[in-house]
Amino acid sequence: MNHNPSMNPIEQRLKQVHSRILQAATDCGRDPADIALLAVSKTRPAEDIATAHAAGQRLFGESYLQEAERKIRALAGLDIVWHYIGRIQSNKTRPIASLFDWVHGLDDARHARRLNDQRPAGHKPLAVCLQINLSGEQSKGGIAPDEAEALATEITALPNLRLRGLMTLPAPSDDRDRQRAVFRQLRELRDQLNERGFGLDTLSMGMSGDLEAAVCEGATLVRIGTAIFGPRR
Ligand SMILES: *Cc1c(COP(=O)(O)O)cnc(C)c1O
Repeated sequence: MNHNPSMNPIEQRLKQVHSRILQAATDCGRDPADIALLAVSKTRPAEDIATAHAAGQRLFGESYLQEAERKIRALAGLDIVWHYIGRIQSNKTRPIASLFDWVHGLDDARHARRLNDQRPAGHKPLAVCLQINLSGEQSKGGIAPDEAEALATEITALPNLRLRGLMTLPAPSDDRDRQRAVFRQLRELRDQLNERGFGLDTLSMGMSGDLEAAVCEGATLVRIGTAIFGPRR
């Protein structure tokens, strides 16, 4: 598989992911420049992040706070935009508010207020996405679509948060039509909220197994782990 011996595996897989995004965007009549790639580096050592960074990757996503904190400190000299994509617990909002630039899984007004209150002075507002549960699986977190407007309204009043968009983490499916149907619902909800004036510019959807479907349905940010870093242990 090593076609170019001067390229390491992470660099090669990053290129493959970029070409998948390019292909999907082209197939669906979208501008690939409108789709950001978030490299999901949970469980990976800081060296892998540094390797991806050297290959041009700038956005990284982490799910586990202790591990993230260690890596963010170790890589403090690099121009990385850190995204928190894990579950939010009330007693862990302070490190999230101080270490990260983005939070994707916001689904609770209390968490929103804590993140707002704990955002350190001098930091830019924390960019947030509401997590929407479209597969009806409680264990995955997220609010129901009909709860989104109320939570969005609360967040808009918090000066240290900036509501950017919506995120979803659907139940895995190999069926492209089913993948697209879920992502389409997220896009339609974003459109409805924007008709109400929320100005959301981000649809965080699509992972290693379903990024094509997400791109076709309007993803502006795909969250890719395995396809960049290889299988997680
Ligand atoms: C782990 C994770 C991903 C990446 O999944 P892959 O299938 O490895 O691409 C994306 N989003 C969230 C929220 C995750 O926890």
